[in-house]
Amino acid sequence: MISSMERVSRFNGDACDRCGECLHQCPVLQLPIEEARTEMHNLIERGGSTIVLTRCTSCMSCDIYCPKDAKPYGLIQRRWNERYKKTGAPPLYRFVCPTYEPNIWQLLNLFVSPEERGWIDEWMNGEPGRDDTILLVGSYTRLFPFILGRSALLGFFKPIDMLDQWEGGAYLYQGGYLDLVRDIALRCREDLQAWGAKAAVPLLDAVYHMFAHVHPREMGVIHVTPFINFTEWLKESLDTGRITLTRSLNIAITVHDNCYSKPMGSAVWDTHREILKRCGCRIVEMRHNRQNALCCGFGRGASWKRNISMPFEIINTSMLKFREAEETGASALVSYCAGCIYLLWAAKELLGSRIDVYHSIEIVRIAMGEDVHPPRDHVRRAWDMIAIITYQWIVSLFQKNFAIETITFDDARSTLIPRRYPLLRFIRWTFNSRIMQRGYGRFFRFVMGLVCRGGTVPSP
Ligand code: SF4
Ligand code: SF4
Repeated sequence: MISSMERVSRFNGDACDRCGECLHQCPVLQLPIEEARTEMHNLIERGGSTIVLTRCTSCMSCDIYCPKDAKPYGLIQRRWNERYKKTGAPPLYRFVCPTYEPNIWQLLNLFVSPEERGWIDEWMNGEPGRDDTILLVGSYTRLFPFILGRSALLGFFKPIDMLDQWEGGAYLYQGGYLDLVRDIALRCREDLQAWGAKAAVPLLDAVYHMFAHVHPREMGVIHVTPFINFTEWLKESLDTGRITLTRSLNIAITVHDNCYSKPMGSAVWDTHREILKRCGCRIVEMRHNRQNALCCGFGRGASWKRNISMPFEIINTSMLKFREAEETGASALVSYCAGCIYLLWAAKELLGSRIDVYHSIEIVRIAMGEDVHPPRDHVRRAWDMIAIITYQWIVSLFQKNFAIETITFDDARSTLIPRRYPLLRFIRWTFNSRIMQRGYGRFFRFVMGLVCRGGTVPSP
């Protein structure tokens, strides 16, 4: 047992025999075995690499491939953490830092509907009681609160969203900001102790994994609140009749397994598939699935080299996911991770893909007989996000790398208050035109082809 407040790395250097299998089997790098061994040697002995640290998509699969259970992704995180301490975070990363501005949630305030605003306010300002089971809605779900708002599923919980809990540190952890994750774990422990609730149910498997496994095992932070995995709760609710399904969707879908599903394995992969089958979905698998699944693209930001090229490298990674999804012939790509879905919606528009993209909660709600928002709202939110990313990218070109020093909101939550942003409003206004949407998609793919040499750009 590690002592409180200590952080330990997952990588077990004593177990690693530098066989290179992890990077050889990596679905992204696919390094020849000799090169994989050299990379591992450099990562361990020299603290750097020529390939991995600038091309890894943080998909976490290598931890599964390692025959010695040495957890090589932990080594990659450690090296990224060292890079962060040396160079800071790229300016575009303010995008996902709620305590810095402008951030994605602050900017999205300009575009959410009054109904969405109401849900967000309720989740943000809720006061849990001791008898409550809290649903930790999470930072990413609040980017599209309509997937959950008005659902009977909310009636089982007290929904709460604390943006400055940073999803338990999940996305910072993925990018190797490990010391910050420990600070966030301690901050979350304070919140949870103050609430004293009966149990907490993170909506994302990733956040459940952070609270239940990463905080105690790697960050030395043990929570007293019991955690329940939402996916398991949902499956059990269907088994026991707590939730009943009244409609069968009768469609072919393909399932996106996110990076955080890897440490949890079959418990996540199979349970989600079982739930979706009960909703009447026929599942057609992508070439890479479960332990080999490719990242949605978001994780590619972890291996950033130049701030200027980050959005193109991220969407170029998404392109591989869409190509595999389209090859299945399924009519929809279903993600069970809110952290992936906003990016997948944006990538679908930029890449001109015709496959529909749904969150698994939307599928369950349809099968429950609930009215969900139509796909045109996915498109609307996707262009909100594309406008915000474009704006933030332009702003970031005039900013320097930065250190994330503040993880907690000031009392006035000033970094959530929207300002005027005339340029952002103008960009978003132009994206109301279908012609502009198509033109911007073509432009983006053209630049992406130049920036990401070797990446193939699909036809619109
Ligand atoms: S981490 Fe595992 S797979 Fe990778 S080189 Fe070490 S022992 Fe081999
Ligand atoms: S995390 Fe994924 S992309 Fe990165 S080295 Fe491991 S398997 Fe490859």
